[in-house]
Order: sequence, then structure tokens, then C-alpha cells
Amino acid sequence: MNYLDNCATTKPDPDVLNTFNTVNTTYFYNPSSPHGKGLEANKLLESARDQIKKLLGLKHQSVIFTSGATESNNLVITGMARSKKQFGKTIITSKLEHPSVLETVRALEDEGFNIKYVKFNEDATIDLNHFKSLLNQDVVMVCLMHVNNVMGAIIPIKDIHDLIQDYPKIHFHVDCVQSFGKLPIDASLMDSFVLSGHKFNGLKGQGILVFDQLVTVTHTLFGGGQEYGFRSGTVNVASDVSMAKAMRIALNEQEVIIERMRQFKRMIETKVEQYPGIRVNSVGNGAPHIVNIAFIGVKGEVIVNSFSKRGIMISTTSACSSKRAKLNETLTALNVPDDTITGSVRISFDKYTTETDIESFVKAFDEIYEEMKELLTQ
Ligand code: PMP
Repeated sequence: MNYLDNCATTKPDPDVLNTFNTVNTTYFYNPSSPHGKGLEANKLLESARDQIKKLLGLKHQSVIFTSGATESNNLVITGMARSKKQFGKTIITSKLEHPSVLETVRALEDEGFNIKYVKFNEDATIDLNHFKSLLNQDVVMVCLMHVNNVMGAIIPIKDIHDLIQDYPKIHFHVDCVQSFGKLPIDASLMDSFVLSGHKFNGLKGQGILVFDQLVTVTHTLFGGGQEYGFRSGTVNVASDVSMAKAMRIALNEQEVIIERMRQFKRMIETKVEQYPGIRVNSVGNGAPHIVNIAFIGVKGEVIVNSFSKRGIMISTTSACSSKRAKLNETLTALNVPDDTITGSVRISFDKYTTETDIESFVKAFDEIYEEMKELLTQ
């Protein structure tokens, strides 16, 4: 089997699993318990938090452990918007965001917020002039993703950070799920950002929210007051400690892995772009681990199945939206023609991807192209 769907999830690193098991066996205690073992568990938790702060180079920001990026995005966007309501009601985001951002801002619209969507150019770069034109004194939040999970396009965090400096009310929130371990992240440029463990060889159900103005945010989850009162619920020490481990491993290895993934991306893109009826949607200077190509005129599901039958796991656009009937929102927002959107598939890598995986993909591509070529719109 060749697994090439690492944007959907990655295989857990055995060291991360070991840490999870060890902590769950030895420190299964509740870190809020006042007895000696509870205190020990709490100490372990806090040392994982400190380690994460060091790894991310955080100075004044807090780290909150959550169940993943969906929860982190919901908590921070809703909480921050509500706490800023008296200062302004406009939120800037884009149609390319993950549903955990898009659906959250849509819900905020029902509470009276104005949602403005910044335009993107056809090559998936953000239209910074349009972004500038959306800025005014009513804007309280900007929510954007660092790396797009469908196309791999990267947004220039520094440019956006610089553009909002004249608007001190704006909270700049970034979804860094697809960039951590694949690109450098400069935490000082963002007011908050989220990571998800299972995207960098950690485990599902583990994530963090990094936050600069914790004291000012409205709480949306009520209970025992864990995680500074912001994320109530018994803290999962084993998950959080093993996530810190996954982060350390990912950052230690990232230089070598990025270069290898970049080569794989180039190999696939330069191979398939020569074929009539195939379009490379992903951009050459995008994130190193994402390739997006369209078999124009053929359904993406058919292509995914054909690869799957040959033992190669790829995806139609993104796992979060692939079960929805409508056309992929990211590609629609980029004005990609409908027959190209329906035929689009995503191939994504991680540290376990090998040259053999890529060779198998290329071989299968040739066979599938042969089978489908009469159906392709050229
Ligand atoms: N944001 C992005 C960009 C993602 O790719 C994903 C996962 N598909 C999420 C958020 C949600 O992450 P989680 O699975 O941790 O809830």
C-alpha cells in the first residue's frame, strides 16, 4: 500500500505512541487532583506546555491544549468575536478556509457579525490589494490559513501582519494546521494560531491553540475551568505530552523532510503536466507536501478509486469536504472551471513518504491515464 493522503492524516510516529502509552500507564491521574500523584501529573503537563512554548519561540503567548484544530478554531474565533463585539463587527476571512473556520464565521453572522471574504488570485495567492480595501475601523478579526489544505498555497503572514498594524483592534488568527513541520512559523506575527497533532505524525484528538490575549477572551465552553478557564474538561495529559513529543520530532526533522517532499512534488508535477487533459492545480512555489491535479472531465471519485484499486491512497480535494455533494469551495473560489474541479485529486506527503511511493504513483498514473484518455476533455 502506498499512502499519499497525508493532508487528511499522518501515521503516528512510534515514539509518540510510546510516550502516550507510558504517560497513560504511569501518570493516568487527573492533573487537577490535589494529591501527590495529581500534582506529579500536573507537573508533567506543565513541562510539556513549557517545551511547546520553547519549540515555537513563544514569549508572551499562552498554549491551550484542545482536542484538535476544529475545537481550537471554534473556541478562539467565537470567543474573540464575542469579546470584541462592542468595538466592531467585521471579520475578514476567505472562502478558502477550512470548514472549522468557515462554518464558525457563518454562525457568527447570525449573531450580527459582517463577514468579508478576501479574494484570491487564480494562482491561489491572496489579493493583498483587495485585503487592504477591506480594512476599516469596524474590523475586529482576520482569520486566514497559512497553507491551504487543498492547493498548498501559502499566504504571506508577514505582509498581512504589516498591513494590519494601523488597526490595533484587529485580532489576527491563523490556521497553521498544514504548515507546521512543512514551513517555518513565526509566532510573533500572529495573535493566535492553531495546530493539530495528527497532521504531523502525532495522534488524532490532540491540538493546541496559541493565544496572545487570553484574559480578554469570552469563554464559550463552561465547566471545571481547566486550561485557564478557557477549555474546561479533564486534561488529557498523555495526549498533550505526546503531542509535545511529536512537535519536537517534527521540528528536528523538518529541514531534511521538506527538501525530500519538495523533490517528490516536482517529480509528480513535471511528469503529469505534459499530458493533454491533465491540469496541475497546485502551485510550484506552494507548500512542499501538496500536489493537486485535475483529470479534466472525469470525476475525481473515479480517479481516487482507480488509484485505490492499485493500492495507492489519494484523495479528492480534502477529506473534510469530499463527502459533501457540492463542488469544492476552495477551487470554486479560485474560479477553477467546474469540469476541472470535479476531476481534481490531491496527493500529499509526509516524512514516511518514499521514492517507491512516488514511483508507484507514476506507474499507476500512466495506466489510469491510458484507461481514461478517451474521456478526458482536452
Ligand atoms: N484546518 C485545516 C487546514 C485542516 O486541514 C484541518 C484537518 N483537515 C483542520 C483545520 C481540522 O483539524 P482537526 O482534525 O484537528 O480538527
